[in-house]
Parts: sequence; C-alpha cells; structure tokens
Amino acid sequence: MTLVCITNDLDDVRSCIVNGQHASNCDGMEWQYDREAECSYPTSNECGGCLPAPAEFGVLCYTCFEKTRGALKIALDMITHLRSVERAQQLDKNGVRAAATWILPVPNTWRMADELIMLLGHPAPGFLSTATTEDVKAVTEAQLDFDVNEWVSREAGGEDAVHFFRTMQHALAQHPFADVEHRVQNVRCWECRQLSLVWKPPLEFDGPLHIACSTPACEFVVDPTLYAILAASQLDKVTSAIRKTKAAQLAEARAARAIVKRRIKAETRAREKAAKEASECAALGAA
Ligand SMILES: [Zn+2]
Ligand SMILES: [Zn+2]
Ligand SMILES: [Zn+2]
Repeated sequence: MTLVCITNDLDDVRSCIVNGQHASNCDGMEWQYDREAECSYPTSNECGGCLPAPAEFGVLCYTCFEKTRGALKIALDMITHLRSVERAQQLDKNGVRAAATWILPVPNTWRMADELIMLLGHPAPGFLSTATTEDVKAVTEAQLDFDVNEWVSREAGGEDAVHFFRTMQHALAQHPFADVEHRVQNVRCWECRQLSLVWKPPLEFDGPLHIACSTPACEFVVDPTLYAILAASQLDKVTSAIRKTKAAQLAEARAARAIVKRRIKAETRAREKAAKEASECAALGAA
C-alpha cells in the first residue's frame, strides 16, 4: 500500500485527492463530512474523484510539497512584514474605530507571525514583544535554516508544514505584499497637507517605520512620533466628519417620516369628515 498525503489524516484540512480517480470503496456519490455528527454522509452529487493523493515527498503529496516550498521562500519577508505592522499603521487602517482607543492591543499580524515561527519549530510563545525588526529577521533566518525534505519526512513535520503553508496563504490574503509599500489613506502630510504620505516597509530601512511624502516638491519625512500625533488629531476629524454626516442623514430621515405621518393624519381626517357629511346627508334624506 502506498502512503497517502497527510492531509487525508488531518481533520481541519481538506484531503488531497486525485481528480477523476476513485478509491476502491467509492459508490459514485460524493460524500460530505458533517462536523456536528462527526461522520460522513453521501450527497446527491456525483463523485469527481476520491482517490487519496499519494505521498511523494515524505508524507506530502506533490502539491502540498510545492506549496510548502513556495511558502518557505517568502517566509522571511512575510514574517518581517507581519511584525512590521505597528500601532500607528493600524490607526490609519481602522481609521474610524481606532480614534477612541489610543492604546491598541497586540496586532493580529503579530500573532500570525508567532504562529508561523512556532510552526517552524521556534519555542512558544513566539517572538519577544520587544523584538526589533532586526531581531525578528535574525530569529526567522535561523529558524529557516533546515532541510525541507527532512522536515516533511516525519509525520509531525509534515503536519506542521501543511499548517504552515495554509497560515502563509491566510497571511498573504490578508496582508498582501503589494500592501507592504502603500499610500497612507487618511492622514495628511504635515508639510504640504496632501494625502500623499507613503508608508514603506522596514525591510529596507533601519527604523521600524518609514513614512514620507510622495509629492515631488515636498518629500517631507514624517517620523513615527509625529505620525502618531498626526493620525490621532486628523483621524479624530475624520471621525467627527463622519458623525456629522450620519447625524444629518438621520435628521433628514426623521423629517421625511414626519411629513408622511402628517399626510396620513390629514388624509384620515378628510376621510372621516367626508364620511360624517355623507351620513348627515343620508339622515337629512331619510327625514
Ligand atoms: Zn469517488
Ligand atoms: Zn497534499
Ligand atoms: Zn508633503
């Protein structure tokens, strides 16, 4: 019996199968796992393939191995990137919500970085909260210095590898690299007052945060402290502007409702009056 890809043994991961090929016990129907009942049921769909993918590289199938190697290739950049997301940047991203809470909790991106480094074998709970970009880089580099083939040759390693590339996929989806260098959305340049600040990754810089104006004549560099001050003061304005718009909308809606109510009242009164007059007329006619 050939060994199958370890995903077929993992509950929380979709099993790797060979499309169009079927296991010997396949009855032609697609089966679906029911989480609550904790067992599989046949569906009314035709089975498109259910033969478990063979393990070709250690305990992984070809696809999983390729995904693992791809994820490892960009792991250093991604982990450093995840750790580089700072409180000041979160302020800009969450604009409206963040203004009220100046002290932000540990960013989710930091937790993701911890998860990734632990899957690579770093002891829990991951990076020190005081670790600088350089520290993070050094730790990650050291952790990445291992033999992939050996990693996925063992069951525990293969399982970690699958969770590793899946977490990397999540990280990429939520924090794409295109985002690494991006225009700050809600905070204006201190010097020229334009929305032209660009946030650059610390990967190429020494400091934790590098924000500079992209207006050619300005090119003002905002240091992190000034940025935090600008974000706090300007985002408050954004928030109060939004609040004002919202209040205006509510007032308008209230006024519109009042008009409708008044019209209904007037119509009812007119109808009652007409009915009264009609009954009076009828009474006169009968007399
Ligand atoms: Zn099948
Ligand atoms: Zn697989
Ligand atoms: Zn500027």
